[in-house]
Amino acid sequence: MIKLTEEEKRIRHRDVERRRRERKGDEINALSREKYKTDPGYRAKKKAVATRWFKENPENVLAQAKRYREKNKDKIWAKAHTEEAIENKKQRMRKDYSRNRQLRKEESSERYNANREKITRNRRLKGYNTKTECVEYKGGKCVVCGAIGHQSMMTFHHRDPSKKEFSISSKLANGWTLERLKPELDKCDLACASCHNYITWLIKNIDLIELGLVEQ
Ligand SMILES: [Zn+2]
Repeated sequence: MIKLTEEEKRIRHRDVERRRRERKGDEINALSREKYKTDPGYRAKKKAVATRWFKENPENVLAQAKRYREKNKDKIWAKAHTEEAIENKKQRMRKDYSRNRQLRKEESSERYNANREKITRNRRLKGYNTKTECVEYKGGKCVVCGAIGHQSMMTFHHRDPSKKEFSISSKLANGWTLERLKPELDKCDLACASCHNYITWLIKNIDLIELGLVEQ
């Protein structure tokens, strides 16, 4: 009898195994799948083998997976697009989202703190430039006294307070553009600060004025 070397034994075993698989591969696969599901010991062993195999032959495994994906494209697509699979994916994404939300919050506040000075400076500059545009859009001078002043002295007065949705200055601070402000600007007149103060006072105290109790 010829004595086989370890290597020859291994090759022979592999060939026997391959022939057996060719004959009843499906049957063997079904059995082993069933066992994998029901037998935790078997499952652990299979996983260990697969992990080791993957670590030793990463390229082979990836190539094999690629071949499998190409061959079974339709099957994989169908499996990933059942209602259940879609719902599972949604849930997974939701979970990831909430898990990452805290992280993203922290990152963004870190970024803000690191650049706080630059960010607020840019915001103020943007507000300044937009206010210049708004003052120009409204004619550039006080509608009451005709004064042309520095933009810090110019205010936007709502003709009809009941139609006021917000104050222009608050939105300028929030970085709104002229285009976005136009609908609200159209309800306003440009007034210098002193005229604006006076108009506001007049409106508020119209009763006292009518009663002749205060001077206009
Ligand atoms: Zn004025």
